[in-house]
Amino acid sequence: MTTWFNETLYKGFRQSHEVKKVLFEGKSKYQQVGVFESGRFGRVLALDGVVQCTEGDEFVYHEMLTHLPILAHGAVQSVLIIGGGDGGILEEVLKHKAIKRVTMVEIDGDVIEVAKKYLPKICGKAFSDKRTNLIVGDGAAYVAETKDRYDIVIVDRPDPVGPATVLFSEGFYKNCRRVMKPNGILVAQNGVPHMQGPELTEAVKLFQKLWAQSGTYLAVVPTYVCGFMSMTWASDRDITDVDPRKVFARFDKARLPALNYYNPEIHFGAFALPNFVARLLPAPKKPVPKKVVKTAAKKKAALKKKKAKR
Ligand code: SAM
Repeated sequence: MTTWFNETLYKGFRQSHEVKKVLFEGKSKYQQVGVFESGRFGRVLALDGVVQCTEGDEFVYHEMLTHLPILAHGAVQSVLIIGGGDGGILEEVLKHKAIKRVTMVEIDGDVIEVAKKYLPKICGKAFSDKRTNLIVGDGAAYVAETKDRYDIVIVDRPDPVGPATVLFSEGFYKNCRRVMKPNGILVAQNGVPHMQGPELTEAVKLFQKLWAQSGTYLAVVPTYVCGFMSMTWASDRDITDVDPRKVFARFDKARLPALNYYNPEIHFGAFALPNFVARLLPAPKKPVPKKVVKTAAKKKAALKKKKAKR
């Protein structure tokens, strides 16, 4: 008799995978952890009954949440990964030889051990790379305390449940900003707009409070069902406004091993949003007209001068 894994994420809709073989099943301090050999997508990691990644399509999500911000930035030396226990994001980041240091903060050590043992096709040797600084702990606490600073922050979080709820909060984003170097870029997993639209709206609303620029780009990950997956970004510079010739040149120079999804064309294509997704984004922040900025500065200087005269 065929056994099926039924994902229980959405009301009234579910995806099911044939279970060929259960490789691991257990309860960690934080969540139910499961790995099984599936009928069509190879090995699947599920947390609390929700698909986190599969061997069959992890490349889409892991390549787009890493190579796009790294090549948009152009001079990345240090990267912080929050979450990402399966090691797929870490593995992609380490493909960039110019990157000197990658810190990964994952709350659940069991997920890392399970990934090392059962998901080598996803994490490769990334956990033992000498550039990897692996911390088992709460990502929100880490960004609140660390003195380290990063060019790129990648939030590879699950859905806003359990220990991950705090990773969708304004306080967490404020501290992410705190640990970013000037011109740094933050990117985050932000759900499937067709089913999780309010999550996307809420995230960009909070980003607009903290950064000059923010938005989303899209990719289709077959087992993140119901269409596009949104990856949100935030920075004090507009990452959509990078000269394409620069991205092509950086891509060539990076000499990345063969990728299955990312290329410089899809880099720019990913920012093209269908109307229903564009409508989910809050109106862009009105840039403060230079004149207003100037007047304010002038006023301040005048006040200072007045005080000095007294
Ligand atoms: N790509 C997946 C998705 O889109 O659903 C997420 C992958 S990854 C497995 C998510 C990881 O975030 C999990 O291993 C989970 O344990 C971790 N996580 C949850 N809350 C966390 C927190 N507060 N700090 C650090 N890691 C956390």
